[in-house]
Amino acid sequence: MSVSVRKISRKYGEQWAVKEVSFTVHSGEIVGFIGPNGAGKSTTMKIITGFLPPTSGEVRINDLDIREQTMQIKRIIGYLPEHNPLYPEMYVKEYLLYVAGLYNIRGTRARNRVDEIIEQVGLTGERHKKIEKLSKGYRQRVGISQALIHDPDVLILDEPTSGLDPNQIVEIRNLISAVGKEKTVILSTHIMQEVEAICDRVIIIDNGEIKADETAGNLGSRQQSGQTIEVELQESFPAEKWKKLAAVTGVRTLPGNIYLLATTETRDIRPDIFRFAVQNNLTVLSLNQKHKNLEEVFREITGKTGKQDAGSQDLK
Ligand code: ADP
Repeated sequence: MSVSVRKISRKYGEQWAVKEVSFTVHSGEIVGFIGPNGAGKSTTMKIITGFLPPTSGEVRINDLDIREQTMQIKRIIGYLPEHNPLYPEMYVKEYLLYVAGLYNIRGTRARNRVDEIIEQVGLTGERHKKIEKLSKGYRQRVGISQALIHDPDVLILDEPTSGLDPNQIVEIRNLISAVGKEKTVILSTHIMQEVEAICDRVIIIDNGEIKADETAGNLGSRQQSGQTIEVELQESFPAEKWKKLAAVTGVRTLPGNIYLLATTETRDIRPDIFRFAVQNNLTVLSLNQKHKNLEEVFREITGKTGKQDAGSQDLK
């Protein structure tokens, strides 16, 4: 199923939380929605799931319109809200049976489905516990279970790994990758590594506006303000002499006769470097254009770091 978001805007009082946001996500795609706190991620997700009406714009899931066919759309969307609201006094199985009932799944069908999902998300050992007794990681699995219980075609996950420890993060990411194969998935995060690990595409949002919408690979090779070339020589060469090369604006010397040459040019300057090396009787062992990691691209685009809270411990 495709999710098509067309020019959605949402105003809170005088403030625009999202402004003319448009994108389309296709079946089988896992898209990472990334931006600093307050960028408009949750607002966009609430609008897509029909929990919040947009001030203007439209959302369509295949040929269904979120304003007109809200109930039909809710049946094909699984949603994990940011704060994962659960009923702490309920038991895991009891809660999931209750959620199944909300989707008209009852009796044996409901029990079978709950058992299946408990197994799939790795909650078997916890299924008879009260939700309030569960660790944060297991509570998040309950949240993901309730989003998956009706086998939705579209999954909207708001910060699914926020607050989890590194092991739990890996487990939840694997789970999302596995279920994402047959579904349309949009997840929000502020952890770039998450996007690199599981997303096919990255949408960067900042200040309510989309700043980039590209495959993770393309985003990494974006050359917004120059690039770095790594040169390995057989012999050493003084850093200041590299600066004679007009395109080079900075030099860092690494052990093993390796030089990181910075340039503000966006064209490929490797041929210039190669010719310069030959003119100076240098033997070039390797010459690589260094791609930025997504974290650097994110910083460049939003002017901020992705490190916003304790959940970012695995940032590069
Ligand atoms: P994110 O999920 O990227 O952190 P949000 O969508 O939660 O961003 O918020 C976008 C902007 O809208 C923020 O400036 C936030 O303060 C504002 N906002 C969100 N919800 C409300 C609300 N219920 N009332 C007023 N302002 C809100």
